[in-house]
Amino acid sequence: MANQDDQFKKVISHAKEYGYVFQSSEIYDGLSAVYDYAQNGAELKKNIRDYWWKAMVQMHDNIVGIDSSIFMHPTTWKASGHVDAFNDPLIDNKDSKKRYRADVLIEDYCAKIEGKIDKEVAKAQKRFGEAFNKEEFLSTNPRVLGYQEKIDSILTRMGKSLEAEDLADVKALIEELEIADPLTGSRNWTEVKQFNLMFGTKLGASADTAMDLYLRPETAQGIFVNFLNVQKTGRMKIPFGIAQTGKAFRNEIVARQFIFRMREFEQMEMQFFIKPGTQKEWFEYWKETRLKWHHSLGMGVENYRFHDHEKLAHYADAATDIEFKFPFGFKELEGIHSRTDFDLKQHEEFSGKKLQYFDHEEKASYTPYVLETSIGLDRMFLAVFSNSLVEEELENNTTRTVLKLPAVLAPVKAAIFPLVKKDGLPEVAKQIVEDLKWDFNVFYDEKDAVGKRYRRQDAAGTPFCITVDHDSLEDDSVTIRHRDTMEQKRVKIADLKDIINAEVDVKHWLQKMQ
Ligand code: ATP
Repeated sequence: MANQDDQFKKVISHAKEYGYVFQSSEIYDGLSAVYDYAQNGAELKKNIRDYWWKAMVQMHDNIVGIDSSIFMHPTTWKASGHVDAFNDPLIDNKDSKKRYRADVLIEDYCAKIEGKIDKEVAKAQKRFGEAFNKEEFLSTNPRVLGYQEKIDSILTRMGKSLEAEDLADVKALIEELEIADPLTGSRNWTEVKQFNLMFGTKLGASADTAMDLYLRPETAQGIFVNFLNVQKTGRMKIPFGIAQTGKAFRNEIVARQFIFRMREFEQMEMQFFIKPGTQKEWFEYWKETRLKWHHSLGMGVENYRFHDHEKLAHYADAATDIEFKFPFGFKELEGIHSRTDFDLKQHEEFSGKKLQYFDHEEKASYTPYVLETSIGLDRMFLAVFSNSLVEEELENNTTRTVLKLPAVLAPVKAAIFPLVKKDGLPEVAKQIVEDLKWDFNVFYDEKDAVGKRYRRQDAAGTPFCITVDHDSLEDDSVTIRHRDTMEQKRVKIADLKDIINAEVDVKHWLQKMQ
């Protein structure tokens, strides 16, 4: 655990030191769970957003993208169910005065039991070696089965109690499991209460005419209310999708863990409109497609898993999370939800406008079903950043810190150095910058010894370093060094663009999905 904490602390301090993420309003001591993206962070975030947009919109001829407003008519949130049901169950510890999400306390308790299962697996793996069959072990070992049964029964009971709004039973469960405040060990809990996560604000100048508004807690509703406009003007035929990226706001009760859980964050969502009855096939299709997108970035297939929901939200008939192994364990990165016709039907009812689709083949109108994929851009940022940060032992007994970002996402693609600050080398290096900057984000650096400049770029995540030396003046060649292999090659200046492009081009990465 200490190790995990240390690794996570390194991620946070590295993100600050290398200009990726700053605490918001830091000179005023910051604002809880609000962060700013710095010069490199803004680039990384934009590249992740583009990588998603290209995969979802550009590569699908039946998906289009929109950009709807953060403010929406307040009735939207009545219709969507957020006014009545977008709550988290919270519980306070009377001794420490700390506030927790009751469901998260229970889930963390189950994660500890899961840790015990992992230990049993590791032990057995050691004992049986090559012959070890994990699937069989998990389905037959009595101790593991006991642990799994316990997890299942706890989560099922919690799911049922939350569904039935039986908050007294949620508290009873916390007491029966003897769950203590993780910070102080105290078991002196208050009752469990519901807490609405939406931020309210007002539109209008005078107090009596002002209209109560909410900052949107998800981008999805901006898509639903535009469903018919897009379908008609884009002449879209079912099945088709509408995608968008944008800010969402939630007054999270427990907002720790850096940019994993923020009060202001960005989502990348896609609603796929389908014929009723086909939702199971599309659910499977989007599960597979989204997982392939993640895998295409090469961050280790073992770092992803599906977690099917026991407790379904009020709008869903199936739901799963793609979980990623963050420095603090497997946690939700993306949600895939079969939302039925809930949202469109609700908006029909509340707006009095028909939101149906006329199917020319069926010669009938119907309310489409919806399959949603929803991923947090900031969470994806954290996944990429934390997974890329490694400390490497080198052959000469030294270590180097490398940020092995997938090259397609790296903020700066190449750094260009003159070996020394004289003899006409800076001029050649600057000319290379001028030529490459039409295609890539590049960076010029002439300060310190080249070895030191390499290390700085390794830690900042730049995939290529290009060094101009005295021979360059004669042979029009430079040395290009690869961040991950540290391999150095002599190449023609005229070939640089193609060499860099081969590794950073979106096509090279997205083709891995096929
Ligand atoms: P959680 O259970 O972690 O609160 P959720 O199930 O409420 O998340 P969704 O409503 O399904 O999340 O939102 C879709 C995605 O938006 C999540 O998978 C996550 O990546 C992202 N997300 C949700 N809440 C936050 C937040 N407070 N900060 C950053 N990202 C978030």
